[in-house]
Amino acid sequence: MLRRTFGHADFRGLQSGVIGELLAGRSAMAVLPTGGGKSLCYQIPALIRPGLGLVVSPLIALMADQVAGLQQAGVAAERLDSNTLPDERQAIWRRIEEGRLDLLYLSPEGLMQPSMLDRLSRLNLALVAVDEAHCVSQWGHDFRPEYRMLGRIAEVFPAVPRLAVTATADARTRDDIRAELRLEGAAEFVDSFARPELALSAERKRGKGHDRVVELVLERPGRAGVVYAGSRDSTEKLAEKLIAEGVPALAYHAGLDKGVRARRLEEFLEADAAVMVATIAFGMGVDKPDVRFVIHADPPAAIEAYWQEIGRAGRDGQPAEGITLYGSADMAWASKRIEAREAPDEVRQVQSRKLRQFYAMLEGLTCRAAAVRRYFGEEGVARCGVCDICTSPPKGVDASEAAQKALSAAHRLGGRFGRGRLIDHLLGKTKDVTPQEAQMSTFGIGREFSPATWRDLLDTLVFEGLLREDPNDGRPLIGLGEVEGVKAVYRGERKVSLRQQVEASDPGT
Ligand code: ADP
Ligand code: ZN
Repeated sequence: MLRRTFGHADFRGLQSGVIGELLAGRSAMAVLPTGGGKSLCYQIPALIRPGLGLVVSPLIALMADQVAGLQQAGVAAERLDSNTLPDERQAIWRRIEEGRLDLLYLSPEGLMQPSMLDRLSRLNLALVAVDEAHCVSQWGHDFRPEYRMLGRIAEVFPAVPRLAVTATADARTRDDIRAELRLEGAAEFVDSFARPELALSAERKRGKGHDRVVELVLERPGRAGVVYAGSRDSTEKLAEKLIAEGVPALAYHAGLDKGVRARRLEEFLEADAAVMVATIAFGMGVDKPDVRFVIHADPPAAIEAYWQEIGRAGRDGQPAEGITLYGSADMAWASKRIEAREAPDEVRQVQSRKLRQFYAMLEGLTCRAAAVRRYFGEEGVARCGVCDICTSPPKGVDASEAAQKALSAAHRLGGRFGRGRLIDHLLGKTKDVTPQEAQMSTFGIGREFSPATWRDLLDTLVFEGLLREDPNDGRPLIGLGEVEGVKAVYRGERKVSLRQQVEASDPGT
């Protein structure tokens, strides 16, 4: 089937294991990296096993792509969604009931309609596959309430094997998927997330605007790349800047006319060296194998999204780069967005934690690829040897004492001020100071460092969750972060280090 219908010579990674499980009539869960060939895991068993295979997928565009591809390969596949016209719908149902259809793609809410369940439960089903299964979990980064209903699949089709597939699921999310989709006893397949062709790096934003991004792109002439920016407006501005520098850049975001988007996508796919400057609206289902770099002009808010976006580089297995620019303002902004989200407290807490973990990784001193792979639950992971940390290990300078000073000062100031004022306090600047503040024991305890060093250290403390910046209408206030961590620093049990180059460039030290 693999060769005849899909034209591939051999199975990839864990595909054959997953397929074997379903062919034996058992349910399974598969966490395979993007590009790992998740769709074959349910397509092949659906074709081999008698009956209709159901595929639940969250995005109409992705379903449409897959169905079109399958039909081209001669597979009897269809999709039913809100766009399906009544006539088509009838024709599809006729084929289903005559047993002439092998695969049917549905949205979760489409599948869970009582009339649909009723009609399907009278049929012989080959399997039910849930694509992007992490959407079922509040612990995942892309929770979709309509996925919650899918738990009922197990009751409605008790004898039908189920398969949950996803490209991103940390341990907690995997547990959730198992519980929600009743996959308690099912075999779990977690493939390695190693992408040895990807050289990852991250740097703190310096200076204003996106000048550094332009510089990075200009250093990579003649290569295809994707630049992710945080807003529609900044994609346009950045693309303009790049074009002015002679780079064939294209802006892409959800606010553009559908036709314009399609044209730009096509242009990007066909060009050898175009640079797509996009919001995250760009990417899902885009398969351009020779993307040589992905640059985050603005960072995402979790390791899951980071890995998915960076992972669009080097799909052909040739060397590629993933470069992320980040700053404390980005973190504060992301934090504010999470707080403003209409979601249960628990969900917001999880998202905040994911945000902190991501920034701790960016800021950390461990191999990037290893950190990400461990996050996804891989064990025994070796250093990648090609990321910025592996190739030029930054020396950490112990700044634990300075951190204690900063934390005490933040504590004394009681979270009422922004970071500028906190630094003035540490430096003992008397301008604007109240007599009361000038008498605090923490006033002026940090005179040995320059303002620049303090700014770097405060960033580090924020990234590590020891300080937190609460968005306050654009003028963030700085206060103590996670209590246990702060205590550990006070007690000297937790070290805080600053990167050497930061210290070295600072004449104040
Ligand atoms: P995912 O959903 O895991 O990102 P897809 O199922 O879309 O991945 O597959 C990604 C690409 O890999 C597709 O172009 C597919 O044709 C190809 N592919 C899948 N399995 C194999 C295989 N065994 N050998 C070669 N190519 C494969
Ligand atoms: Zn590394």
